[in-house]
Parts: sequence; structure tokens; C-alpha cells
Amino acid sequence: MKKDERIEALAVDILHFRKILHKDDEPGLSWPGLDERDISGRLTLKGANYFFLCSINDMMRKVEDTMEAAYNFMYRIAPDPEKTWYFISSHTLEEWMSKKKEYNLHWIGHIYKRNHRIAGQIVKKYNGDPRNIWEDPVDRKGLPPAIVAERLLDKDFGMGRQITYMTIGALKDNKILTGSSDIKADTHVTRTLGRMVTGDTISPDEAKDLARKMHPQDPWLLDEVLFIWGQEICKSRNPKCLECRFKRACAYFQNNFSEIT
Ligand code: SF4
Repeated sequence: MKKDERIEALAVDILHFRKILHKDDEPGLSWPGLDERDISGRLTLKGANYFFLCSINDMMRKVEDTMEAAYNFMYRIAPDPEKTWYFISSHTLEEWMSKKKEYNLHWIGHIYKRNHRIAGQIVKKYNGDPRNIWEDPVDRKGLPPAIVAERLLDKDFGMGRQITYMTIGALKDNKILTGSSDIKADTHVTRTLGRMVTGDTISPDEAKDLARKMHPQDPWLLDEVLFIWGQEICKSRNPKCLECRFKRACAYFQNNFSEIT
């Protein structure tokens, strides 16, 4: 199979499997906080704060641990869950760092530290309300994902690329934003997509470009299947190729199991 044919076949198979996972295009993975809506359907401030606090700390550990730490901080340590970012930025950086163990938002120093920087930006530029990052100030509708990405990737805000794409994807999955956005090219996605198309793991930039080529209308729609597949089937060691639903067009499978194909 030529590379372009492979890309086309894989895109069809991945999107087909996504449809099986989500009947009627319902939201994908469940995201903390995003189901907290007011009577008009707008995400509440507490929900937005919880979602965003989880997002910026969602690295190098289990999602449940991130959720528990963020909830504990917002509801048991900070005095008001609607003023989370004001509370964080009321500390000097030195005070904030001295409370790392007590606040327990993340065990890695630089990830814990960036909560302070991002809180300062949310207070300064967005009136302490993360919804102002992604909503139009007049009609409160979601802004285009490209504008939201620009704001999160701004060097003062400093969100980090993969967390930015994950956050935007979550908002899209929950119908708060609409429009095309990139995949979160984490280790599961770069390994699975790379093996499928090239036979080996690829870089985050290569994965982003490849996903754009596979599904230019909205690369994000490929993300969840690739992520789940990397976690469950296309593992770094001993991928379960023989039982894999994508083996028909997978380069790794063809390279390593050619006697079967
Ligand atoms: S066939 Fe193997 S390498 Fe290819 S996607 Fe499936 S598990 Fe991964």
C-alpha cells in the first residue's frame, strides 16, 4: 500500500471507529467541570475554574489524581471556588513555591509553579474568569479555536502546546467551541499514529502535520481513538497487532507481520 493510500484508509477507519464509540456525535471523553452549566446552558464559573485547573495540571500522572488534587485545592484550601485564580495570585511566587507540599496541586516543581503564572494572567487579562479566554464578550458564544490557541500559547500565558490542544479539544467535545483544531500529540498519539503511517514513532510536529493531512476538516476528531489505542492496544512494548482493528493499513503491521498479510 502506498503512503497516501495508507493515510486515506486509516483516516476512514479511525473516524468510523470514533462513530462507533460515540453514537449521534455525543461528547467524547468526559472532562471535569464541563457538565456544570447554568440555566441558559452556559458553563458556570466554578465549572470553568475546575476544568481549567485540571487542564493545566494534567501531566505525568493519572487523570483521577489530577481531578482530586484540583478539587481539594479549590474546595478545601482556597476560600472561594469562584475566586480560585485571585487566591493563587494573591501569593508572591516565593510564598506560592513554599506552599507546594501543602497545596499539592502537582508534584513536579515547574508544573506547580506555572499555576502561579497562569493565575496571574487570568486575573490580569481575563478578569479572573477563564471563560473570557474562549467566549466572545458580547454574545458569550465560543471564539474560533485558532484565536483561543493564540491566547493560550501567548508567551506570557505559557500554557504549552499539547495542553493547549487538549483544552481546546475538550471545549469542542462539549460544544462550547466549534471549528477545526489540532490533536494533542502526546506519547500515545505519536507512537500509534507513527507506527500506523510510517512504521515507527514520530515527533509531535510530524504527528500534528500528519493528522492535518489525514483529516483536514478537523484533525482533533482523530485524537481520542489514537489516544485510547495507544493506551490499550498499540502499547510501547508488545503492541497487540494481531487483534488490532487498524492492521489492514498499518505500516508497522506490514513491516513486522508480512508473512500474514
Ligand atoms: S497493527 Fe499494531 S502497530 Fe499497527 S496500530 Fe495496531 S497495534 Fe499499533
